[in-house]
Amino acid sequence: MFDNGDANTGNDRTLTFLNVSNLVTTDNLPNGFGPDPDGTADPDHFKIEIDDTGKGGGTIAAAEVTLEVLKPAADGSLAAFNPPRRLQAECRRVSGATGGTENKYRSRYLRLVTDSVDQAANADQCLLTDWDSTEPAIEILDQVVRVTYVASTGATLTAEADVGDRADQRRIKLALHVVRQNTGVAGSGPVTTAQATTRVHSWYRRLYAQAGAAPRLVAAADEVDPPRNLIVVSDNSGDNATGNADNWMRFFIRGVAGIQYRVVAGDTLSRIAQRHEVASWQTIYQHPRNAGFRANRPDPNRIYVGDDLFIPAAGGRVAVVYYPAAGDTPMTTAQALAQRVQTAGLDAQAFQNAARPGDPRGSADLLVRQADGSLVTLEDETSRDTTQDLRIALVTATDFLVSSHNAAGGFATHNIGTAEQRALVRNYRSANDHVECFVVDTVRYDDLSTYIRGRSVIPMMFRPAAERPVLPLLRSTYMAGNTMDGSNNNPFTFPHESGHCIMDVYHAGNNRQLMRSGTSGANAVNASKRIYDSNVAFAGMGGASPLNQVTRLRASGAAVLENW
Ligand SMILES: [Zn+2]
Repeated sequence: MFDNGDANTGNDRTLTFLNVSNLVTTDNLPNGFGPDPDGTADPDHFKIEIDDTGKGGGTIAAAEVTLEVLKPAADGSLAAFNPPRRLQAECRRVSGATGGTENKYRSRYLRLVTDSVDQAANADQCLLTDWDSTEPAIEILDQVVRVTYVASTGATLTAEADVGDRADQRRIKLALHVVRQNTGVAGSGPVTTAQATTRVHSWYRRLYAQAGAAPRLVAAADEVDPPRNLIVVSDNSGDNATGNADNWMRFFIRGVAGIQYRVVAGDTLSRIAQRHEVASWQTIYQHPRNAGFRANRPDPNRIYVGDDLFIPAAGGRVAVVYYPAAGDTPMTTAQALAQRVQTAGLDAQAFQNAARPGDPRGSADLLVRQADGSLVTLEDETSRDTTQDLRIALVTATDFLVSSHNAAGGFATHNIGTAEQRALVRNYRSANDHVECFVVDTVRYDDLSTYIRGRSVIPMMFRPAAERPVLPLLRSTYMAGNTMDGSNNNPFTFPHESGHCIMDVYHAGNNRQLMRSGTSGANAVNASKRIYDSNVAFAGMGGASPLNQVTRLRASGAAVLENW
């Protein structure tokens, strides 16, 4: 049987499931057989106890006691891994409470670990439960540990315990998108979808098994094109329009036949043609779709405010030209631009962004797509308004820009995201009930201060409401390719960034923990890969710290978790 007896009394406590240990493998793992407070420092430790009245002697040899981790097979039976995942465990006779001996034999303190580096660090006391690259659907938390002993009677005795508490396991819902380097070119992303998926199956599983949780992709990982279809009004300022003289603003849309334009004060057909980069005003005036206009305005020198004209594409693109009025908010302008874009037969939506600290109000996004939802390309934005600018989000897999918390406003700024972050989530996030991950080539702070391995948008429920991120940015992550590729470099980065989103925490002080700042670049026993199931101090979280990360994961992460 599996036992996790008290260090002082040796009292039995039979275990029906075994938790993956949260501790550093080489810490608090005494190799003696007697009760030891150091051993019980790990609440997830276990021992094997054998009750054999006919055995005699003080020792049961390691060769006689076999622990093996088994995986569920399709028919419901348990199957061995290849090669087998086993541990031979010597057991020794237990001293009785009155000083004599009992007929019970116990092993040393034992642990379940999820990677081979931890297992190798103490192969006599650590049993490996891990994913299986030949059967990636096999969960660590669906595995079973069986102990086998041939008793002095000749009977083969077995006992089994689940890996993890089946009644209390959770799945963490994830979506994975690899951003292509080149639009429409399959396989041009920094990693393959298979590589990114394997990262989730391996490292994410290994780490979160400590917390009784496992990742589940809500859909197969996919490749997405870098969109160029989001334009921001007053990005990073939130300013209203000044309405200064000659304050027209403009951007171009590729691949549409034409757009409607409404005449404003000061317009002439020549000026309209010039602003839209149509070579000649006659091209507009004589266009068949302006036959009604011509009938009403037979003299091309006499046009009137409010007249509607069709502007045909020139050079494969049409211009959206607009004159904001003094005091127009970013959202007012974005909505007016959306109305104009819709006259080209496109889908256009305006979104109000949250204000950054210190800004008068938030910027506004305009997202433009074909009526069927496919991408269109925006280009060459200009604004002559003194205060209200336009900026097309330049999503690129290399030097992908994420908001920095180094700017004034600190952490409160980073959850507004950059235009590039918003372009990804507004195009590709299908629902908000999961962690959304975008894999790019390189990730850089938008103040250009530094390259980073990944970025996440934290719920920040421990901060004032005005500083929290809004959907669909909430719980999105942006990962550099070197954290999701086919190597085992930076194994903890995506689990770490994801941990910010699920646990709603900043950084833990202990270097062994997954949530430390700057995770280890390679796996090691002492690497940053532990999710402690005890109170841990976190920086910058005020009264919310210290906190238990496992409890926190289940409570703060509830919106992206589901039962097993
Ligand atoms: Zn972090």
